[in-house]
Amino acid sequence: MKTAIVWFRRDLRTADNPALCKALERCERVIPLYIHSPDEEAPWQPGEASNWWLHHSLQSLDRDLQRLGSKLIVRQGSSKQILESLAHQSGAEEIHWNRLYEPVVIARDSAIKSHLRSAGFHCQSHNAALLFEPWEILTKTATPYKVFTAFWKACQAKRHIPQPCPAPTALPPVDLSLNEAGIDNLDLLPKIPWHGKLSAYWKPGEASAQNTLMLFIREGIHSYESDRDIPEKPGTSHLSPHLHFGEIGPRQIQWALFHNMHDDWMKQEPNLFRFLAEIGWREFAHHLLYHFPHTTEQPLNRRFQWMTWDNSDQAMLNLESWKQGKTGIPIVDAGMRELWETGMMHNRVRMIVASLLCKNLAIHWHQGARWFWNTLLDADLASNTLGCQWTAGSGADAAPYFRIFNPVRQGERFDPQGIYIRRWIPELAHLANRHIHTPWLSDMAADYPDPIVDLGVSRKQALERWDILRAIPPAAITPEA
Ligand SMILES: Cc1cc2nc3c(=O)[nH]c(=O)nc-3n(C[C@H](O)[C@H](O)[C@H](O)COP(=O)(O)OP(=O)(O)OC[C@H]3O[C@@H](n4cnc5c(N)ncnc54)[C@H](O)[C@@H]3O)c2cc1C
Repeated sequence: MKTAIVWFRRDLRTADNPALCKALERCERVIPLYIHSPDEEAPWQPGEASNWWLHHSLQSLDRDLQRLGSKLIVRQGSSKQILESLAHQSGAEEIHWNRLYEPVVIARDSAIKSHLRSAGFHCQSHNAALLFEPWEILTKTATPYKVFTAFWKACQAKRHIPQPCPAPTALPPVDLSLNEAGIDNLDLLPKIPWHGKLSAYWKPGEASAQNTLMLFIREGIHSYESDRDIPEKPGTSHLSPHLHFGEIGPRQIQWALFHNMHDDWMKQEPNLFRFLAEIGWREFAHHLLYHFPHTTEQPLNRRFQWMTWDNSDQAMLNLESWKQGKTGIPIVDAGMRELWETGMMHNRVRMIVASLLCKNLAIHWHQGARWFWNTLLDADLASNTLGCQWTAGSGADAAPYFRIFNPVRQGERFDPQGIYIRRWIPELAHLANRHIHTPWLSDMAADYPDPIVDLGVSRKQALERWDILRAIPPAAITPEA
């Protein structure tokens, strides 16, 4: 009887889980293990919103494993020590896990793998999170891509996506005495109970991820192209937190899309291709994080080392107003309040709020990335870094710095009736449409703050900063680390 440990991390599902599949294929006994070791991910250990999701997702996985005849073994502490001691305690010869791509996690996992291998264990990692490994997609000169369209074209040329392996129908029983911590003892839920409202909007877990996908295939994908930019509509899939925690994988999404759609219709369907391209952006984010690990802290475009950011006391007060949704700019405040209430913010609005922060307010994108990290349920180091650097203009294939989002125009274009704004800012609900994006021009918005920044003046100042940056000679720019 051979025993394997399956180390669950952000692959909290039983179907399309290559580590679990392989362990079951090679061994008669399988121990599903979760190790709580957030400090090993420092400085990007999960934020409060993520921990709420993790708590419920682990419970859901445990229930699923119990239904199959097994149980999630939970421990807390050093991953390396726990894996080694559990292997000795249980007589396991094999350890399987699915790969993650954050720089510190790669370093930890590589060290663990070589340690366990040299201690005589069969130790194998697998791909559950991506369609393509970051090192599989390279330019003709074997360098990483920095432009999305070229990257995604290269991915599509590869085409072959392996069929997801099905969930097991039964699992071997596990020795319950191995369970030391228990999910409730991990203290994942915030001490101050602000999180009660989140369960009104979200249901973590593998079954919920599948239901969310099926609902989107039935009702959302057919109008994705036109609705995806309208924040008031449920026009996107809402799969991002499920994807982040690996309750569903991109292979499953791709297979479900192709198998639940009529073939001819699919071929001419721009909605489908648009949606798959968004999954492609997620792949691109992981590609960039893998090849340019310093970009969680440093600009990818090294010229931006010289950017001047505002750290003044006034800027820090502005940052607080931004976090609280009290900037006096309706579409921005609506987004920030949606985030606080639901743990989510629409993609279009993320771009608008991030642009206001780093361009109009001249506050470093790090500050935005950190706030998102703590408040987003889908907080993901690869996608958050890409999104924040893209908006700041310093990332790969970024919005050109001189293209500064005008939040009033963005609101008028994507929320013309102000439905989204009225939902999240009740004190503006009574305003006429002509003032909903510019309440400072109305005398009916007494309960709402004046804008903390003059959009026209701050835009001009941002362009002046850009001109200074452009003028820096190449010799003054440090090459990539
Ligand atoms: C400043 C900023 C920060 C962001 N931070 C995150 C983050 O921490 N985590 C995160 O998952 N996404 C992040 N995004 C990307 C995007 O906003 C979300 O993925 C999207 O809003 C999730 O909603 P959805 O699942 O309904 O998306 P859909 O439109 O249904 O897209 C399907 C999936 O594609 C992926 N995707 C879509 N757009 C992007 C994108 N621009 N970059 C990377 N992947 C994408 C997501 O996994 C998403 O679930 C950020 C974007 C910006 C501008």
